[in-house]
Amino acid sequence: MTPQSLSGNRLGMLLLVSGPSGSGKTTLCRRAADTDLASYATSCTTRAARPGEVHGTDYFFLSTDEFKEKISNDDLLEYAEVHGNFYGTLKSEIFTHIEAGRDVVMDIDVQGADQIRNCDDPLIQQALVELFVMPDSEEELLARLTGRGTDSDEIIATRMKNSLEEMQHWDKYTYCLLSTDRETDYKKFQSILISEALSVSRILD
Ligand code: 5GP
Repeated sequence: MTPQSLSGNRLGMLLLVSGPSGSGKTTLCRRAADTDLASYATSCTTRAARPGEVHGTDYFFLSTDEFKEKISNDDLLEYAEVHGNFYGTLKSEIFTHIEAGRDVVMDIDVQGADQIRNCDDPLIQQALVELFVMPDSEEELLARLTGRGTDSDEIIATRMKNSLEEMQHWDKYTYCLLSTDRETDYKKFQSILISEALSVSRILD
């Protein structure tokens, strides 16, 4: 088999992107999807939609009962309670793409990333790449959380507390991106996607 004959016979990568709320990880994932570098795996959540968020694009916004039904139907690859709401990844948002050789990026908290890292699905293990996005300081993180202008002081305080806890987990990831400015962050993010797409580890026989 030659490299030429391998095209189209490749498993897509599954890039997990974690980092505290306000680290800019969602923006990085969205931008990669908007430029067709990867597909964005839309998650389910029980949190209320923020102004401007669209069902099916930003998240699938579900009631707690609907979310529990997804769990009992075994529709979720992982799920976790984050900042007092449930978040989960639909298997359908992952497998169809990676099996067709398309790369997928997903925004996920550290608990969900742990579940995927430890899952025994061989396809997921072969597809997996993990990135932690780290804000450059606590002040910057607080400024980003406050700057959204959509969350109450109470929600911001909870997110700040959880973020500091979440930042302890950076060393479980393959890559860590120390955030500086949007363009530099995106160049680094793009480089990971482009290099990992060349990895022979996802070529199928
Ligand atoms: P937000 O409410 O700011 O959109 O997201 C809150 C947190 O939930 C973020 O840390 C984000 O990474 C995480 N999150 C988003 N989707 C998922 C998911 O499908 N599973 C898990 N475990 N966490 C998620």
